[in-house]
Amino acid sequence: MSSQIPHITILGSLNTDLVAYVPHHPLPGETLTATSFLTSPGGKGSNQAVACAKLSRPRDLSSPSAHVSMVGAVGSDSNGDLLLSNLATHGVDSSLVTKLPNKKTGIAMIVVEAETGQNRIIISGEANHQVGEEYVTQGGWLDKTDLLIMQLEIPMGTVLEAVEEAKRRGVDVLLNPAPAKILPDGVYDGLRHLIVNETEAAILGGVEEKELDTLEGLERVGKGFVGKGVENFIATLGGRGVFYLTKGGRSGLIEAEKGVKVVDTTGAGDTFVGRYALEAARARKEGGEFDVGGAVGRANKAAAVTVTREGAARSIPWRDEVE
Ligand code: ATP
Repeated sequence: MSSQIPHITILGSLNTDLVAYVPHHPLPGETLTATSFLTSPGGKGSNQAVACAKLSRPRDLSSPSAHVSMVGAVGSDSNGDLLLSNLATHGVDSSLVTKLPNKKTGIAMIVVEAETGQNRIIISGEANHQVGEEYVTQGGWLDKTDLLIMQLEIPMGTVLEAVEEAKRRGVDVLLNPAPAKILPDGVYDGLRHLIVNETEAAILGGVEEKELDTLEGLERVGKGFVGKGVENFIATLGGRGVFYLTKGGRSGLIEAEKGVKVVDTTGAGDTFVGRYALEAARARKEGGEFDVGGAVGRANKAAAVTVTREGAARSIPWRDEVE
C-alpha cells in the first residue's frame, strides 16, 4: 500500500439492514403490506467505510486514492460474515473488525416510504455495544491514521476516548454524531470536522428544527459549534443541500443537485461523509490548505447519486460514477 495516499479509519457500527418499502409509513396499530423487501449490509460505520472506499476507486478496485480501514465488532453469525465480505468486496481493510463469540450482529429495521423516499429506522445494536475503550488502542491503528471518522452507534465512552486519544496524537477527527446524543462541550474543542443533518444540528445545537429553515438560523447554530472549538461545521439539509461554516469565517449554502428522482435517501448522509472525508484526508496528508467549499460541493454531488438508488452500501457510487 502506497504511503503517499491518506489512511482513513472508521471506528463504528456494523449492522444488517432489513429494509421494507411501503406505500406510506404505518399509523399506530396499522399493519401494512410492503411492496418489496431487502436485506443488506449497513450500520453508519460500515456504510461510511464503504462510502470512502467506493468513492476512492473504480469498480475494479484499482488505484485507490485512500487506504480505508474499519474498526468494530460483529457477532458469530451469518450476518457478521456477510458484513465482513461486504467490506472486503469494496476494498475496506476489515482486519480490525472483531468477530465476537456468542454475540449477535447488529440489526437495523428500516421502513422506506415509496413516494418521498423518507426512512424510519429502529436499531438493535448487539455486537456494536461491545466495542469498548480497548478498541481505541488495540493494534496501534491510530498511529497509521490520517483521518478518524466516528458516529454514535457504538458506546459513547469509546467515542469520547477515541476523540481524546486522536487529539493527543494529532490525528484529525471527523465526527458525525448520529443518532443525535448530547455531547460534552470538550468534544468540540479542537474537533476538525463536524457533520450533522438537520435533526442532529437542532438537538445538539439546542434549537427548534424550524430555526434551521433560514440562513440566519443556520449561521447562528454553526457559530455556536465553531465557538466551542469546531474547525469545520457542516449541516446536510436533505433536498435543500448543505450549509458550511469554518473557524476562519468562510461559509456557504450549496443547493442540492436539481432534477434528482428520489428513490431512497438511505445512505445519502453516509455518502456525503465519505466523499467529504476523502478530500479532508488528502488535504491533511498533503499538508495544503483544505478547500471546505470544494469538498462540500463534491460530497453534495455524490450524495445526489445515492438518493436515486435503493439500499445503503449498494446505492453508494464508485469513483468513476461521479467523476
Ligand atoms: P440518511 O440518514 O438518509 O442517509 P441524512 O439525514 O444523514 O441522510 P440528508 O441531509 O438527508 O442526510 O442528505 C445528505 C445529503 O444528500 C444532502 O446534503 C444532499 O447532498 C443529498 N440529498 C439528500 N436528498 C436529496 C435530494 N432530494 N436531492 C438531491 N440531493 C439530496
